[in-house]
Amino acid sequence: MTFSVHGLAVARGIAIGRAVLVASSRMDVAHYFIQPDQVEAEIERVRKGRNSVVEELQRLQADMPTDAPHELGALLDVHLMLLQDEALTGGVKHWIKERLYNAEWALTTQLEVIARQFDEMEDDYLRERKADLEQVVERILRYMKGVASPVAPPASSPRRHQQLGLQQDLLLDETVDVPLVLVAHDLSPADMLQFKQSVFAGFVTDVGGKTSHTAIVARSMDIPAVVGARAASQLVRQDDWVIIDGDAGVVIVDPSPIILAEYGFRQRQVELERERLARLRHTPAITLDGHKIELLANIEQPGDAAAAVRAGAVGVGLFRSEFLFMGKSGNLPGEDEQYRAYREALEGMQGLPVTIRTIDVGADKPLDHKSHKDNYLNPALGLRAIRWSLADPAMFRTQLRAVLRAAAHGKVNLLFPMLAHTHEIQQTLAQVDLARGELDARGEPYGPVQLGAMIEVPAAALMVRTFLKYFDFLSIGTNDLIQYTLAIDRADEAVAHLYDPLHPAVLRLVADVIAEGERQGKSVCVCGETAGDVAMTRLLLGLGLRSFSMHPAQILAIKQEVLRADTRKLAPWAQQVLEGEATLARGAAN
Ligand code: PEP
Ligand code: MG
Repeated sequence: MTFSVHGLAVARGIAIGRAVLVASSRMDVAHYFIQPDQVEAEIERVRKGRNSVVEELQRLQADMPTDAPHELGALLDVHLMLLQDEALTGGVKHWIKERLYNAEWALTTQLEVIARQFDEMEDDYLRERKADLEQVVERILRYMKGVASPVAPPASSPRRHQQLGLQQDLLLDETVDVPLVLVAHDLSPADMLQFKQSVFAGFVTDVGGKTSHTAIVARSMDIPAVVGARAASQLVRQDDWVIIDGDAGVVIVDPSPIILAEYGFRQRQVELERERLARLRHTPAITLDGHKIELLANIEQPGDAAAAVRAGAVGVGLFRSEFLFMGKSGNLPGEDEQYRAYREALEGMQGLPVTIRTIDVGADKPLDHKSHKDNYLNPALGLRAIRWSLADPAMFRTQLRAVLRAAAHGKVNLLFPMLAHTHEIQQTLAQVDLARGELDARGEPYGPVQLGAMIEVPAAALMVRTFLKYFDFLSIGTNDLIQYTLAIDRADEAVAHLYDPLHPAVLRLVADVIAEGERQGKSVCVCGETAGDVAMTRLLLGLGLRSFSMHPAQILAIKQEVLRADTRKLAPWAQQVLEGEATLARGAAN
């Protein structure tokens, strides 16, 4: 039966594919695809883990004191029975063999499948056995941790040929791969990074806001995504056919042939539009009245530089360096490793400038799963970004030295996130001097860098003149600026409707920073998600913005807006919007 789930539209386009559910269980495991020749090894790992648990439980049973409560023995029996149940073992093998899931992913997926069956049982006693099953699986996973996978998460995953189901005649030829869409309760930015190289045609998550980092990474992958879809991961089942409408924020499950045909048509329209925009790649971004507009790329990894160049970016306006630090179980990359990554990004940009932002972890970007945000009192207001760096100067200077060394190979701008206090600015700049001194002492070559500050806390916007005394350039992080101005957690879908880039208070802060930068002849960029939102381009141009940084996938659509814009008409209109006397209605002023 067809039904739909509504969420927030975060990455545009239409995806049609079979659902891959990432287990929402409390067990935090790696998810990656294995190669076909690794199937037996993965099955063996699960078998070994399971056998170890069986042996452990049998030992416990044998050693049980005679006066132990009877229930304890019965419980062990239940656990042993669950461990040997074909539903668990057969199911796990299925996911490994048919879907090429790694062992842990297969195990937690099968746990979800059986747990749902338990949930549906009438009998209270049987329903409660779900907790036992979870314990058993948790034990297996613990044993498996000791038996490392022979399979490293691959950089890219094989696409598989599969028999198509129900709608194959409407969708794809039988010989073509089945597109897969990922459905999860939540995905951390680190998970997303791992999936970035993978086969998924789209994403759906139950939680998350429009500018949550999970949504941002989805957007950077340029595939349709819906977040904040509440119960999607409960309602969608493994292998269901799913349509993700990334424009409307709707997920359609088990679509009828008519709906499929309609979305297939829309998918082709999107493709045509993309091809049309691609022709603008070499066109300079100049407004009708002759203003040259700088369109830069936001990247998360050095490898993203290629997409930035392909899209015609004139540089990287924001390299979110924290993604180099994630998913490493807290083992931070050393100076050389970072230096190589920054150099690779520079080389990837083929001589174009790269703005590297120092690490911004905390809030919804935990360094690893252990330091998940729930562990903090109020993560968005806590030890995040520059605060984190200044709290660990050795780590900070390691990064600074790596950036300075990379600057010997190309034009690098160094950007600091979330500064709010003058003393933070002074400490930050002192750390840069110290890092230079350390490189001098080592006789290590390094290059010049322009220093910039992110404006993402209202306090920073209000004291923009002070910031401009210290920095060569500014970059407005509207994602956080909106979050902190309106007191809306950007990752929380429950308040997503209040997250408003057009709120007069936000616009006033953005306008003042742009105007002050212009007065002082210093560059101001916007690198938050508003820079890549076509609905915002004319307003930002009207407010005087001349530098935009966004995901490579958004550059050509923004360029199209720029080419149609006349800032002489937009400027007075933007002032009216600022005063609340005009609206953003399309067509106004231009
Ligand atoms: C922002 O806050 O707008 C920004 C670009 O930084 P991030 O999204 O990484 O917090
Ligand atoms: Mg930010």
